[in-house]
Amino acid sequence: MSVFVPKSSVEGIVWPSLPGRRVTAILAILFQLEHSQWWPSEKIRGLQFRQLGRLLVHAYRTVPFYRERLRKAGLTAKAPLTPEQWAGIPLLQRQDIQAAGPALHSTRVPDGHGKVSTIFTSGSTGKPIGSLRTELTGLFWESFTLRDHLWHRRDPTQKLAAIRSAKEGVSPYPDGSVGRWGFGSDAIFNAAPAISLNINCTVEQQVEWLQRQNPAYLLTFPSNVLRLANHCLEKGIKLRNLRQVQAISEVLGAEIRAACRQAWGVPVIDLYSSREVGYMALQCPDHEHHHVQAEGVLVEIVDDRGRACAPGEVGKVVVTPLHNFAMPLLRYEIGDYAEVGESCSCGRGLPVLRRILGRVQNMVVLPSGERHWTLLSSENIGAFLDIAPIRQYQFVQKNLQSIESRLVVERDLTPEEEDRLRKWIVNKLGHPFEVTFTYHEEIARSASGKYQDFISEVET
Ligand SMILES: [Zn+2]
Repeated sequence: MSVFVPKSSVEGIVWPSLPGRRVTAILAILFQLEHSQWWPSEKIRGLQFRQLGRLLVHAYRTVPFYRERLRKAGLTAKAPLTPEQWAGIPLLQRQDIQAAGPALHSTRVPDGHGKVSTIFTSGSTGKPIGSLRTELTGLFWESFTLRDHLWHRRDPTQKLAAIRSAKEGVSPYPDGSVGRWGFGSDAIFNAAPAISLNINCTVEQQVEWLQRQNPAYLLTFPSNVLRLANHCLEKGIKLRNLRQVQAISEVLGAEIRAACRQAWGVPVIDLYSSREVGYMALQCPDHEHHHVQAEGVLVEIVDDRGRACAPGEVGKVVVTPLHNFAMPLLRYEIGDYAEVGESCSCGRGLPVLRRILGRVQNMVVLPSGERHWTLLSSENIGAFLDIAPIRQYQFVQKNLQSIESRLVVERDLTPEEEDRLRKWIVNKLGHPFEVTFTYHEEIARSASGKYQDFISEVET
Protein backbone atom coordinates (compact mmCIF):
# COMPACT_ATOMS: atom_id res chain seq x y z
CA MET A 1 0.00 0.00 0.00
CA SER A 2 1.13 3.52 -0.67
CA VAL A 3 2.26 5.89 2.05
CA PHE A 4 -0.77 7.32 3.79
CA VAL A 5 0.39 10.91 4.11
CA PRO A 6 -1.98 13.47 2.57
CA LYS A 7 -0.59 16.68 1.13
CA SER A 8 -0.35 19.24 3.91
CA SER A 9 -1.79 22.72 3.49
CA VAL A 10 0.11 24.34 6.38
CA GLU A 11 3.49 25.87 5.66
CA GLY A 12 6.38 23.95 7.18
CA ILE A 13 4.28 20.94 8.18
CA VAL A 14 4.89 17.69 6.34
CA TRP A 15 4.06 14.92 8.79
CA PRO A 16 1.67 14.21 10.29
CA SER A 17 -0.02 16.28 7.66
CA LEU A 18 -2.66 18.98 8.12
CA PRO A 19 -4.56 18.88 4.84
CA GLY A 20 -6.99 21.46 3.45
CA ARG A 21 -10.67 21.71 4.30
CA ARG A 22 -12.12 19.34 1.70
CA VAL A 23 -9.56 16.58 2.31
CA THR A 24 -9.98 16.98 6.06
CA ALA A 25 -13.73 16.51 5.66
CA ILE A 26 -13.24 13.35 3.57
CA LEU A 27 -10.79 11.94 6.13
CA ALA A 28 -13.22 12.75 8.95
CA ILE A 29 -15.95 10.76 7.19
CA LEU A 30 -13.54 7.94 6.35
CA PHE A 31 -12.37 7.68 9.98
CA GLN A 32 -15.99 7.21 11.06
CA LEU A 33 -16.67 4.67 8.28
CA GLU A 34 -13.67 2.63 9.41
CA HIS A 35 -15.38 2.22 12.81
CA SER A 36 -19.06 2.05 11.89
CA GLN A 37 -18.62 -0.87 9.50
CA TRP A 38 -18.00 -3.12 12.54
CA TRP A 39 -20.98 -1.96 14.57
CA PRO A 40 -23.96 -4.27 15.11
CA SER A 41 -26.66 -3.77 12.49
CA GLU A 42 -29.18 -2.45 15.09
CA LYS A 43 -26.83 0.35 16.09
CA ILE A 44 -26.28 1.30 12.44
CA ARG A 45 -30.03 1.26 11.80
CA GLY A 46 -30.69 3.44 14.86
CA LEU A 47 -28.31 6.10 13.55
CA GLN A 48 -29.78 5.84 10.06
CA PHE A 49 -33.18 6.65 11.52
CA ARG A 50 -31.81 9.64 13.40
CA GLN A 51 -30.42 10.97 10.13
CA LEU A 52 -33.63 10.09 8.25
CA GLY A 53 -35.64 12.02 10.84
CA ARG A 54 -33.63 15.15 10.04
CA LEU A 55 -33.99 14.59 6.32
CA LEU A 56 -37.74 14.11 6.69
CA VAL A 57 -38.20 17.35 8.64
CA HIS A 58 -36.18 19.17 5.97
CA ALA A 59 -38.24 17.60 3.16
CA TYR A 60 -41.51 18.46 4.92
CA ARG A 61 -40.49 22.08 5.44
CA THR A 62 -38.81 22.90 2.14
CA VAL A 63 -39.90 20.46 -0.59
CA PRO A 64 -43.43 21.17 -1.95
CA PHE A 65 -43.89 17.61 -3.25
CA TYR A 66 -43.21 16.09 0.18
CA ARG A 67 -45.27 18.51 2.23
CA GLU A 68 -48.30 17.06 0.50
CA ARG A 69 -47.15 13.45 0.44
CA LEU A 70 -45.95 13.31 4.06
CA ARG A 71 -49.10 14.96 5.35
CA LYS A 72 -51.18 12.34 3.55
CA ALA A 73 -49.03 9.62 5.16
CA GLY A 74 -49.81 11.14 8.58
CA LEU A 75 -46.26 12.47 9.10
CA THR A 76 -45.42 16.01 10.06
CA ALA A 77 -42.18 17.67 11.07
CA LYS A 78 -42.09 16.00 14.47
CA ALA A 79 -39.17 13.72 15.42
CA PRO A 80 -38.34 11.01 16.33
CA LEU A 81 -39.19 8.92 13.32
CA THR A 82 -40.18 5.28 13.85
CA PRO A 83 -39.67 2.42 11.33
CA GLU A 84 -43.47 1.94 11.24
CA GLN A 85 -44.03 5.57 10.27
CA TRP A 86 -41.30 5.26 7.70
CA ALA A 87 -42.92 2.20 6.10
CA GLY A 88 -46.11 4.26 5.64
CA ILE A 89 -44.44 6.64 3.17
CA PRO A 90 -45.46 5.63 -0.38
CA LEU A 91 -42.64 4.50 -2.68
CA LEU A 92 -41.32 7.18 -5.03
CA GLN A 93 -41.39 6.04 -8.66
CA ARG A 94 -39.31 7.41 -11.49
CA GLN A 95 -42.60 8.59 -13.04
CA ASP A 96 -43.28 10.64 -9.87
CA ILE A 97 -39.90 12.33 -10.29
CA GLN A 98 -40.60 13.02 -13.96
CA ALA A 99 -44.04 14.48 -13.14
CA ALA A 100 -42.98 16.48 -10.06
CA GLY A 101 -40.11 18.36 -11.75
CA PRO A 102 -38.95 21.28 -9.56
CA ALA A 103 -41.62 20.47 -6.91
CA LEU A 104 -39.08 17.90 -5.67
CA HIS A 105 -36.35 20.52 -5.24
CA SER A 106 -35.74 22.01 -1.81
CA THR A 107 -36.47 25.72 -1.66
CA ARG A 108 -33.82 26.15 1.05
CA VAL A 109 -30.69 23.97 0.98
CA PRO A 110 -28.67 24.58 4.19
CA ASP A 111 -25.49 26.63 3.57
CA GLY A 112 -23.04 23.92 4.64
CA HIS A 113 -24.19 21.61 1.83
CA GLY A 114 -22.39 23.72 -0.78
CA LYS A 115 -23.18 24.33 -4.41
CA VAL A 116 -26.05 22.47 -6.10
CA SER A 117 -25.63 20.90 -9.55
CA THR A 118 -27.83 18.85 -11.89
CA ILE A 119 -27.20 15.36 -13.24
CA PHE A 120 -29.24 13.33 -15.74
CA THR A 121 -29.68 9.58 -15.74
CA SER A 122 -31.88 6.88 -17.23
CA GLY A 123 -30.91 4.37 -14.55
CA SER A 124 -31.65 0.72 -15.16
CA THR A 125 -35.06 1.09 -16.77
CA GLY A 126 -34.61 3.60 -19.59
CA LYS A 127 -36.68 6.22 -17.75
CA PRO A 128 -34.75 9.49 -17.88
CA ILE A 129 -34.77 11.88 -14.92
CA GLY A 130 -32.85 14.97 -13.86
CA SER A 131 -31.72 15.15 -10.24
CA LEU A 132 -29.82 17.55 -8.02
CA ARG A 133 -26.73 16.91 -5.94
CA THR A 134 -24.63 19.05 -3.64
CA GLU A 135 -20.93 19.52 -2.89
CA LEU A 136 -21.60 17.67 0.35
CA THR A 137 -22.97 14.60 -1.45
CA GLY A 138 -19.72 14.80 -3.46
CA LEU A 139 -17.69 14.49 -0.23
CA PHE A 140 -19.58 11.33 0.68
CA TRP A 141 -19.02 9.98 -2.83
CA GLU A 142 -15.24 10.51 -2.43
CA SER A 143 -15.26 8.87 1.01
CA PHE A 144 -17.03 5.72 -0.23
CA THR A 145 -14.68 5.56 -3.22
CA LEU A 146 -11.77 5.51 -0.76
CA ARG A 147 -13.50 2.88 1.37
CA ASP A 148 -13.76 0.72 -1.75
CA HIS A 149 -10.01 1.14 -2.38
CA LEU A 150 -9.20 0.29 1.24
CA TRP A 151 -11.52 -2.72 1.35
CA HIS A 152 -9.99 -4.16 -1.79
CA ARG A 153 -6.41 -3.21 -0.87
CA ARG A 154 -5.80 -1.20 -4.01
CA ASP A 155 -2.57 0.68 -4.27
CA PRO A 156 -3.30 4.02 -5.97
CA THR A 157 0.40 4.57 -6.66
CA GLN A 158 -0.04 1.90 -9.34
CA LYS A 159 -1.52 2.53 -12.77
CA LEU A 160 -5.29 2.37 -13.30
CA ALA A 161 -6.66 1.86 -16.81
CA ALA A 162 -10.29 2.78 -17.46
CA ILE A 163 -12.18 1.81 -20.61
CA ARG A 164 -15.44 3.72 -20.58
CA SER A 165 -18.04 5.47 -22.69
CA ALA A 166 -16.74 8.70 -24.15
CA LYS A 167 -17.68 11.01 -26.98
CA GLU A 168 -16.33 10.19 -30.39
CA GLY A 169 -12.75 11.39 -30.62
CA VAL A 170 -12.21 11.46 -26.85
CA SER A 171 -9.57 9.08 -25.42
CA PRO A 172 -8.98 7.57 -28.87
CA TYR A 173 -6.75 4.64 -29.84
CA PRO A 174 -3.73 4.33 -29.88
CA ASP A 175 -2.91 6.78 -27.09
CA GLY A 176 -6.07 7.16 -25.02
CA SER A 177 -5.82 9.98 -22.49
CA VAL A 178 -4.27 10.61 -19.09
CA GLY A 179 -6.48 11.46 -16.13
CA ARG A 180 -6.64 10.86 -12.39
CA TRP A 181 -7.70 8.15 -9.98
CA GLY A 182 -9.97 10.68 -8.31
CA PHE A 183 -9.81 13.70 -6.02
CA GLY A 184 -9.52 11.77 -2.76
CA SER A 185 -6.92 9.27 -4.00
CA ASP A 186 -4.81 12.04 -5.52
CA ALA A 187 -4.90 14.16 -2.38
CA ILE A 188 -4.41 11.38 0.15
CA PHE A 189 -2.34 8.70 -1.60
CA ASN A 190 -0.54 10.86 -4.13
CA ALA A 191 -1.98 8.53 -6.76
CA ALA A 192 -0.32 7.52 -10.02
CA PRO A 193 -1.91 8.78 -13.24
CA ALA A 194 -4.99 6.95 -14.46
CA ILE A 195 -5.30 6.34 -18.17
CA SER A 196 -8.46 6.10 -20.26
CA LEU A 197 -9.49 4.60 -23.56
CA ASN A 198 -12.77 5.08 -25.44
CA ILE A 199 -14.87 1.92 -25.12
CA ASN A 200 -15.80 2.13 -28.77
CA CYS A 201 -12.32 0.97 -29.77
CA THR A 202 -12.26 -2.60 -31.08
CA VAL A 203 -11.37 -5.47 -28.76
CA GLU A 204 -8.05 -5.87 -30.58
CA GLN A 205 -7.22 -2.20 -30.02
CA GLN A 206 -8.22 -2.36 -26.35
CA VAL A 207 -6.08 -5.42 -25.70
CA GLU A 208 -3.10 -3.99 -27.58
CA TRP A 209 -3.41 -0.75 -25.52
CA LEU A 210 -3.63 -2.73 -22.28
CA GLN A 211 -0.55 -4.78 -23.16
CA ARG A 212 1.37 -1.61 -23.94
CA GLN A 213 0.15 0.29 -20.84
CA ASN A 214 0.52 -2.73 -18.56
CA PRO A 215 -1.80 -1.41 -15.78
CA ALA A 216 -2.29 -2.88 -12.31
CA TYR A 217 -6.04 -2.21 -12.37
CA LEU A 218 -8.63 -2.27 -15.12
CA LEU A 219 -12.00 -0.54 -14.76
CA THR A 220 -14.76 -1.15 -17.33
CA PHE A 221 -18.26 -2.60 -17.97
CA PRO A 222 -18.74 -6.30 -17.21
CA SER A 223 -19.88 -7.07 -20.76
CA ASN A 224 -16.69 -5.47 -22.06
CA VAL A 225 -14.58 -7.41 -19.55
CA LEU A 226 -16.05 -10.63 -20.92
CA ARG A 227 -15.11 -9.74 -24.49
CA LEU A 228 -11.57 -8.75 -23.46
CA ALA A 229 -11.09 -11.89 -21.38
CA ASN A 230 -12.39 -14.16 -24.13
CA HIS A 231 -10.15 -12.49 -26.69
CA CYS A 232 -7.09 -12.87 -24.45
CA LEU A 233 -7.94 -16.51 -23.75
CA GLU A 234 -8.30 -17.22 -27.45
CA LYS A 235 -4.98 -15.56 -28.33
CA GLY A 236 -3.15 -16.65 -25.17
CA ILE A 237 -2.51 -13.01 -24.18
CA LYS A 238 -1.50 -12.32 -20.56
CA LEU A 239 -1.64 -8.94 -18.84
CA ARG A 240 1.46 -9.30 -16.70
CA ASN A 241 0.94 -6.54 -14.18
CA LEU A 242 -2.84 -6.81 -13.76
CA ARG A 243 -3.99 -7.31 -10.15
CA GLN A 244 -7.70 -6.64 -10.23
CA VAL A 245 -10.62 -5.75 -12.48
CA GLN A 246 -13.26 -3.25 -11.31
CA ALA A 247 -16.73 -3.67 -12.76
CA ILE A 248 -19.06 -0.67 -13.09
CA SER A 249 -22.47 0.25 -14.41
CA GLU A 250 -23.94 -3.17 -15.27
CA VAL A 251 -24.88 -6.47 -13.67
CA LEU A 252 -21.87 -8.69 -13.05
CA GLY A 253 -22.54 -12.32 -13.92
CA ALA A 254 -20.65 -15.30 -12.47
CA GLU A 255 -19.39 -16.17 -15.96
CA ILE A 256 -17.46 -12.89 -16.07
CA ARG A 257 -15.65 -13.59 -12.79
CA ALA A 258 -14.76 -17.04 -14.12
CA ALA A 259 -13.48 -15.67 -17.45
CA CYS A 260 -11.20 -13.16 -15.68
CA ARG A 261 -9.73 -15.77 -13.40
CA GLN A 262 -9.13 -18.02 -16.37
CA ALA A 263 -7.69 -15.36 -18.69
CA TRP A 264 -5.55 -13.33 -16.30
CA GLY A 265 -5.78 -15.06 -12.90
CA VAL A 266 -7.32 -11.97 -11.27
CA PRO A 267 -10.54 -11.28 -9.34
CA VAL A 268 -13.30 -8.92 -10.45
CA ILE A 269 -14.56 -6.47 -7.83
CA ASP A 270 -18.11 -5.25 -8.32
CA LEU A 271 -19.86 -2.17 -7.04
CA TYR A 272 -23.43 -0.93 -7.13
CA SER A 273 -23.97 2.80 -7.60
CA SER A 274 -26.10 5.23 -9.56
CA ARG A 275 -25.66 8.81 -10.69
CA GLU A 276 -28.64 10.09 -8.69
CA VAL A 277 -28.08 8.12 -5.48
CA GLY A 278 -24.31 7.54 -5.25
CA TYR A 279 -22.85 4.33 -3.80
CA MET A 280 -25.50 1.84 -2.70
CA ALA A 281 -23.34 -1.25 -2.11
CA LEU A 282 -19.72 -2.37 -2.37
CA GLN A 283 -18.41 -5.89 -2.69
CA CYS A 284 -17.36 -7.44 0.64
CA PRO A 285 -13.56 -7.67 0.99
CA ASP A 286 -13.89 -11.40 1.81
CA HIS A 287 -16.83 -12.57 -0.33
CA GLU A 288 -18.48 -12.01 -3.69
CA HIS A 289 -21.68 -10.52 -2.26
CA HIS A 290 -22.28 -6.84 -1.50
CA HIS A 291 -22.51 -4.74 1.66
CA VAL A 292 -25.01 -1.89 1.64
CA GLN A 293 -23.27 1.44 2.32
CA ALA A 294 -25.62 2.08 5.20
CA GLU A 295 -23.82 5.22 6.39
CA GLY A 296 -24.82 6.95 3.13
CA VAL A 297 -28.06 5.31 2.10
CA LEU A 298 -30.99 3.34 3.48
CA VAL A 299 -31.63 0.36 1.19
CA GLU A 300 -34.90 -1.55 1.58
CA ILE A 301 -35.68 -4.68 -0.43
CA VAL A 302 -39.46 -5.07 -0.63
CA ASP A 303 -41.87 -7.55 -2.24
CA ASP A 304 -44.80 -6.62 -4.50
CA ARG A 305 -46.97 -5.91 -1.46
CA GLY A 306 -44.37 -3.54 -0.04
CA ARG A 307 -43.21 -5.83 2.76
CA ALA A 308 -39.53 -6.22 3.66
CA CYS A 309 -37.97 -9.31 2.06
CA ALA A 310 -36.23 -11.92 4.22
CA PRO A 311 -32.81 -13.45 3.40
CA GLY A 312 -33.07 -15.53 0.24
CA GLU A 313 -35.95 -13.49 -1.22
CA VAL A 314 -35.69 -11.21 -4.25
CA GLY A 315 -37.49 -7.87 -4.20
CA LYS A 316 -37.46 -4.30 -5.50
CA VAL A 317 -34.58 -2.08 -4.46
CA VAL A 318 -35.91 0.98 -2.62
CA VAL A 319 -33.29 3.58 -1.66
CA THR A 320 -33.12 6.75 0.39
CA PRO A 321 -29.88 8.74 0.18
CA LEU A 322 -29.33 10.11 3.69
CA HIS A 323 -27.53 13.33 2.84
CA ASN A 324 -29.08 14.82 -0.29
CA PHE A 325 -30.85 17.94 1.01
CA ALA A 326 -31.18 19.56 -2.44
CA MET A 327 -33.54 16.91 -3.80
CA PRO A 328 -34.49 14.41 -1.12
CA LEU A 329 -35.48 11.04 -2.57
CA LEU A 330 -37.50 9.23 0.09
CA ARG A 331 -38.11 5.52 -0.51
CA TYR A 332 -37.13 5.78 -4.17
CA GLU A 333 -37.81 2.70 -6.28
CA ILE A 334 -34.72 2.79 -8.42
CA GLY A 335 -35.79 0.08 -10.87
CA ASP A 336 -33.45 -2.78 -9.89
CA TYR A 337 -34.10 -6.01 -8.03
CA ALA A 338 -31.87 -7.64 -5.42
CA GLU A 339 -31.71 -10.72 -3.23
CA VAL A 340 -31.33 -10.16 0.52
CA GLY A 341 -28.38 -12.00 2.10
CA GLU A 342 -27.71 -13.37 5.58
CA SER A 343 -25.41 -11.33 7.83
CA CYS A 344 -21.80 -11.66 6.73
CA SER A 345 -19.13 -13.80 8.37
CA CYS A 346 -16.57 -11.01 7.81
CA GLY A 347 -17.98 -9.35 10.93
CA ARG A 348 -19.28 -6.18 9.31
CA GLY A 349 -22.73 -5.07 10.45
CA LEU A 350 -23.58 -3.52 7.08
CA PRO A 351 -26.58 -5.29 5.44
CA VAL A 352 -25.83 -7.86 2.72
CA LEU A 353 -27.19 -8.11 -0.83
CA ARG A 354 -26.51 -11.53 -2.33
CA ARG A 355 -27.06 -10.48 -5.93
CA ILE A 356 -28.33 -7.49 -7.88
CA LEU A 357 -30.42 -7.61 -11.04
CA GLY A 358 -30.08 -4.42 -13.05
CA ARG A 359 -29.10 -3.27 -16.48
CA VAL A 360 -27.34 -5.07 -19.31
CA GLN A 361 -26.14 -3.39 -22.45
CA ASN A 362 -25.96 -4.36 -26.08
CA MET A 363 -23.81 -2.87 -28.82
CA VAL A 364 -25.09 -1.37 -32.05
CA VAL A 365 -23.71 -3.06 -35.18
CA LEU A 366 -22.98 -0.82 -38.16
CA PRO A 367 -23.12 -2.08 -41.79
CA SER A 368 -19.30 -1.84 -41.86
CA GLY A 369 -19.20 -4.49 -39.12
CA GLU A 370 -18.06 -1.93 -36.54
CA ARG A 371 -19.75 -2.19 -33.16
CA HIS A 372 -20.37 0.68 -30.75
CA TRP A 373 -21.50 0.90 -27.15
CA THR A 374 -24.76 2.74 -26.62
CA LEU A 375 -24.85 3.84 -22.99
CA LEU A 376 -26.23 7.39 -22.71
CA SER A 377 -24.24 9.95 -20.73
CA SER A 378 -25.80 12.55 -18.44
CA GLU A 379 -25.26 15.11 -21.21
CA ASN A 380 -26.90 12.81 -23.80
CA ILE A 381 -29.97 12.41 -21.63
CA GLY A 382 -30.20 16.14 -20.95
CA ALA A 383 -30.19 16.81 -24.71
CA PHE A 384 -32.71 14.02 -25.31
CA LEU A 385 -35.15 15.42 -22.71
CA ASP A 386 -34.83 18.88 -24.25
CA ILE A 387 -36.31 17.53 -27.48
CA ALA A 388 -39.47 15.88 -26.14
CA PRO A 389 -41.24 14.81 -22.90
CA ILE A 390 -39.97 11.21 -22.93
CA ARG A 391 -40.78 9.06 -19.91
CA GLN A 392 -39.12 5.79 -20.94
CA TYR A 393 -37.18 4.55 -23.96
CA GLN A 394 -35.76 1.44 -25.49
CA PHE A 395 -33.98 1.30 -28.82
CA VAL A 396 -34.10 -1.92 -30.84
CA GLN A 397 -31.81 -2.51 -33.76
CA LYS A 398 -33.95 -4.61 -36.12
CA ASN A 399 -31.28 -5.10 -38.81
CA LEU A 400 -28.22 -3.32 -40.23
CA GLN A 401 -30.35 -0.44 -41.53
CA SER A 402 -33.17 0.17 -39.10
CA ILE A 403 -33.81 1.12 -35.51
CA GLU A 404 -37.12 0.90 -33.74
CA SER A 405 -37.40 3.57 -31.09
CA ARG A 406 -39.88 2.43 -28.43
CA LEU A 407 -41.12 5.33 -26.36
CA VAL A 408 -43.37 6.08 -23.45
CA VAL A 409 -44.32 9.77 -23.71
CA GLU A 410 -46.23 12.28 -21.65
CA ARG A 411 -48.23 13.43 -24.69
CA ASP A 412 -48.23 12.76 -28.44
CA LEU A 413 -45.08 14.00 -30.14
CA THR A 414 -45.25 16.42 -33.05
CA PRO A 415 -43.71 15.44 -36.41
CA GLU A 416 -41.01 18.05 -35.75
CA GLU A 417 -40.13 16.45 -32.43
CA GLU A 418 -39.96 13.01 -34.03
CA ASP A 419 -37.72 14.47 -36.68
CA ARG A 420 -35.36 16.01 -34.15
CA LEU A 421 -35.27 12.76 -32.21
CA ARG A 422 -34.50 10.85 -35.39
CA LYS A 423 -31.52 13.14 -36.06
CA TRP A 424 -30.37 12.79 -32.46
CA ILE A 425 -30.51 8.97 -32.61
CA VAL A 426 -28.69 8.79 -35.95
CA ASN A 427 -26.00 11.09 -34.59
CA LYS A 428 -25.65 9.12 -31.34
CA LEU A 429 -25.44 5.74 -33.09
CA GLY A 430 -23.07 6.99 -35.77
CA HIS A 431 -24.95 5.78 -38.87
CA PRO A 432 -27.90 7.09 -40.98
CA PHE A 433 -30.30 4.39 -39.78
CA GLU A 434 -33.94 4.43 -40.75
CA VAL A 435 -35.63 5.23 -37.45
CA THR A 436 -39.24 4.27 -36.71
CA PHE A 437 -41.21 5.16 -33.60
CA THR A 438 -43.60 2.99 -31.64
CA TYR A 439 -45.47 4.19 -28.58
CA HIS A 440 -46.19 2.19 -25.44
CA GLU A 441 -47.86 2.44 -22.04
CA GLU A 442 -44.87 0.84 -20.34
CA ILE A 443 -41.77 -1.03 -21.54
CA ALA A 444 -41.16 -4.22 -19.58
CA ARG A 445 -37.90 -5.83 -18.57
CA SER A 446 -36.82 -9.16 -20.01
CA ALA A 447 -37.86 -12.50 -18.51
CA SER A 448 -34.55 -12.69 -16.61
CA GLY A 449 -35.43 -9.47 -14.79
CA LYS A 450 -32.85 -7.33 -16.58
CA TYR A 451 -33.73 -4.17 -18.47
CA GLN A 452 -32.03 -3.37 -21.75
CA ASP A 453 -32.18 0.19 -23.03
CA PHE A 454 -30.59 -0.91 -26.28
CA ILE A 455 -31.32 -4.28 -27.87
CA SER A 456 -29.61 -5.53 -31.00
CA GLU A 457 -31.45 -8.19 -32.97
CA VAL A 458 -28.62 -8.35 -35.52
CA GLU A 459 -26.98 -11.78 -35.66
CA THR A 460 -23.23 -11.54 -35.25
ZN1 LIG B 1 -18.68 -9.13 4.52
